[in-house]
Amino acid sequence: MSRSLERVSGRNKKIVSRIYKGLRKSLKEFLPTACALCLKNISANKFPRNICDKCLGKVSLRDVNSNLFFMEDPAEARFNFKSINVSEQFNSYYQNYTNNFYVFICTYYDEYLKNMIRNLKFHEGLEFVPVLADLIYLVLERARRCSSREFKEVLNFDYIVPLPLHKKRFYERGYNQVELIAKELAKLTGKEVINCLVRIKNTKRQSEMKSKMERLKNVENAFTFNDTAVIIGKKILLIDDVVSSGKTLWEAASVLAQNGAEVFILAITGNQKENYI
Ligand SMILES: [Zn+2]
Repeated sequence: MSRSLERVSGRNKKIVSRIYKGLRKSLKEFLPTACALCLKNISANKFPRNICDKCLGKVSLRDVNSNLFFMEDPAEARFNFKSINVSEQFNSYYQNYTNNFYVFICTYYDEYLKNMIRNLKFHEGLEFVPVLADLIYLVLERARRCSSREFKEVLNFDYIVPLPLHKKRFYERGYNQVELIAKELAKLTGKEVINCLVRIKNTKRQSEMKSKMERLKNVENAFTFNDTAVIIGKKILLIDDVVSSGKTLWEAASVLAQNGAEVFILAITGNQKENYI
């Protein structure tokens, strides 16, 4: 083959490969994906990508006026969640809170959510990971669309930090479900996940503790900071799956705040009685 012919065929290959890549990219937009819960096809150019409208309809998402709470310093075994009206009471979050934190709770804790999280945690139900990340993103986006300027600022975080498991529990389970959700959320938000918290105390489950005092003592000083991370002046979204007494998250958030970060807490759901949170 002459040199000029070789050049032409080389150029053709490039053109064909470019067309193929372009086609694949545009087709991907239209190829159906399956709902992780019922396996029904979902149109791929629609969000959420991993849960169909019917299954989504079974999730009790909190609306924008009922998903924000204020968590006060639990120092004297007092622990309070106060519901915050985003438009009226939420003013300038970034005031370097180190003892009080805002908690954003995405869904109500009903049987549907309870089953999803139980399967994910104890029965390797990893198909729920992208679904739960989708739910978080959906609720954050709704809040961004209808909330005050200050709240929009909060949603503009730098890093996602998942609540860590103690290494013993991590090896028993084989994964930290919150970290997996954080990674999926990172893909949706374009933010980075950093594992800058270390759980040094292998605490008992908070639900096993009978009194509030026991729960407070159980997780006291449970976390340290991995000091290779630099979080000074950074806005952090600290995430967990279920918030109960809130003390565990409060401990973790305090460590981040003491190391210079501005912390905003997000939990997928909360398992307190409705009149409490
Ligand atoms: Zn479905």
